[in-house]
Amino acid sequence: MNLLHLSRSELKQLISSWNEPSFRADQIFEWIWNKGIFDFTQMSNLSKGFREKLIAECTLNVPKIVFEQKSTDGTIKYLIQLEDGKTVESVWIPREDQGRVTVCISTQVGCRMGCTFCLTAQQKTERNLSAGEIAAQLLLLPNREKITNVVVMGMGEPFDNYDHLMGALTTITDQKGLSIGASHITVSTSGLIPAIERFVQESKCKLAVSLNAPNNEIRSQIMPINRAYPIEKLLECMHRISAPSYPRKIRRNFGITFEYILMKDFNDSPEHALQLVKILKGIPCKVNLLQYNETPNTPFKRPSEESVFEFQKILRRHGLLNFLRRSRGRDISAACGQLASLNKRQSIGAQA
Ligand code: SF4
Repeated sequence: MNLLHLSRSELKQLISSWNEPSFRADQIFEWIWNKGIFDFTQMSNLSKGFREKLIAECTLNVPKIVFEQKSTDGTIKYLIQLEDGKTVESVWIPREDQGRVTVCISTQVGCRMGCTFCLTAQQKTERNLSAGEIAAQLLLLPNREKITNVVVMGMGEPFDNYDHLMGALTTITDQKGLSIGASHITVSTSGLIPAIERFVQESKCKLAVSLNAPNNEIRSQIMPINRAYPIEKLLECMHRISAPSYPRKIRRNFGITFEYILMKDFNDSPEHALQLVKILKGIPCKVNLLQYNETPNTPFKRPSEESVFEFQKILRRHGLLNFLRRSRGRDISAACGQLASLNKRQSIGAQA
């Protein structure tokens, strides 16, 4: 059994089934997730006999970095190989001016949401990551002690792998685990409404919704999920969960983040900006605007700087809080899924 896949409570169940005290599970958990020790023989506060039992009955196989690409802006994309040879991506995004390092992690190998602008959607949907595999993307990075923020925005729809996502968030926020505060973690969804409602009840992490369109006509063209959960239903949910009367006060001091990827002559006109203002009215939120990074096999183009500023100006004029998120790592195939796609075509061994 690979202990990496177990949450702290699952580890406790295993250890108690061996008639060992439960604090042994805490000790093992801390060795793995806080100290980054994956060799049972080095877990020095465990008795020799207990370590031998662990060696005989368990393994600790951690995913490994098989390829990395560094951008001139300091962003590093890592290709991570899982136990079964499948690969996902994680991205290290430093902001030295702000003293922050954000890491973007993946939750699935491939993704079945089928967003037409996304390279990950072009890959075969292979499997969900375990909770351990999601959290381990932080554990295995060099200089992981520098990580200040986590965004769950890599390959996969996090809420399509809900239970493992929640298990991973528990390990990431646990004081004996990776010890990163929930308010420093953002989970981004394409809009699975039932899971959003559950998430805001069960987690203190932040929520981001990938909106990318101001109306159903545009959104349904690029995000098939919009046919199941159209914009009006999604925004109805946002109103509900941000209402002061809602039992779980996710409003706190940040509200909801909407992500809007601007694509040239598709969703970036002044009319689209005005429509966006209208549909988000009354929701405590901010909008993160991103310029589309052109990727192979997609018809979308990067918008001009002028149209982006114009779009931003309209939102601002109407009091809609927004930030233009500058693309990081453009020179290293920054689009999510690009490295993993490349890996399917080339030998990793030849690159690493
Ligand atoms: Fe999946 Fe996100 Fe890509 Fe949509 S954008 S296909 S949800 S990985």
